[in-house]
Amino acid sequence: MERLQKVIAHAGIASRRKAEQLIQEGKVKVNGKVVTELGTKVTDQDRVEVEGVPLEREEPVYLLLYKPTGVISAVKDDKNRKVVTDFFPYITQRIYPIGRLDYDTSGLLLLTNDGEFANILTHPRYEVEKTYVAKLKGIPLREQVKQLERGIQLEDGKTAPAKVKVLSIDKKKQTSIVEIKIREGRNRQVRRMFEAIGHQVQKLKREQFAFLDLKGLSTGDSRELTPHEVKQLR
Ligand code: URA
Repeated sequence: MERLQKVIAHAGIASRRKAEQLIQEGKVKVNGKVVTELGTKVTDQDRVEVEGVPLEREEPVYLLLYKPTGVISAVKDDKNRKVVTDFFPYITQRIYPIGRLDYDTSGLLLLTNDGEFANILTHPRYEVEKTYVAKLKGIPLREQVKQLERGIQLEDGKTAPAKVKVLSIDKKKQTSIVEIKIREGRNRQVRRMFEAIGHQVQKLKREQFAFLDLKGLSTGDSRELTPHEVKQLR
């Protein structure tokens, strides 16, 4: 038994607040009858309709993928390239990635069919800390690192302060490995941030998403999140 607004929110149709509004406005039916009571509980067996459209209910699933490079963060690609859902042929639910990693970026990506969960984790207000490790062309100066830490002007606005650590430098090859932690999730943000200080990103990997990491996984591996992890992320 679950609360009606939660079931609607999980289906990804609306936020929980919007779902409550839909119920109160008389736009939700359970087994053919309009329900306006917010406390109403439903089971898997109950037929729920929102504005005349039946809710397709699936068992929620929460997956962590160590995405390789050369894979699109989408459910399908018009050029038939490999997509992240191809790693889960045995999953019958309609899963999709939570946010995205670039085609050339590897690392930790979550997938789910729980719309509310995905909304929470991608909403700017709740943006969780993400840790990336980048291989850069060149070696950033202390002042350049400071610029990233303070926030840097990009074409779509100034970035929030980042945490930056230079992990290693290769003087001979003139490259460096730099860790950066950000809470935002703009398109190609990490690459653009480093480009803004004059260093091209040659390789990029997301190592952590909130408290989750890639320990024990190789590229292309995946696992389900534990119920405890899901709860902590909410
Ligand atoms: N920042 C990027 O530039 N690319 C990613 O894939 C993720 C963050």
